[in-house]
Amino acid sequence: MIESFECPHCMVGRCRLTHQTFTCLYGNRIFCAPNTEIYSCDMCGYQELPHRVLSLYDNLLKPSHDVASLISSKPADNKTHFKKSSRVG
Ligand SMILES: [Zn+2]
Repeated sequence: MIESFECPHCMVGRCRLTHQTFTCLYGNRIFCAPNTEIYSCDMCGYQELPHRVLSLYDNLLKPSHDVASLISSKPADNKTHFKKSSRVG
């Protein structure tokens, strides 16, 4: 099992397995997953989801959306659009 690897984004830091609240925009709704296993770069903050987590979310969410946008979140881009959404659950 890989616990850390060279960051593919900055090529300097190392991505280590951490437990964080993972948040992303998925279509027009915000997807939030607490206590999620995420590989996080200690240099640039690049985040990558482990494949097993990714495949899990792929089942939970609509597979029609491009999953690549999930794993290549850019930390420098702070644009966040909150839209009014009806409560679910
Ligand atoms: Zn990095």
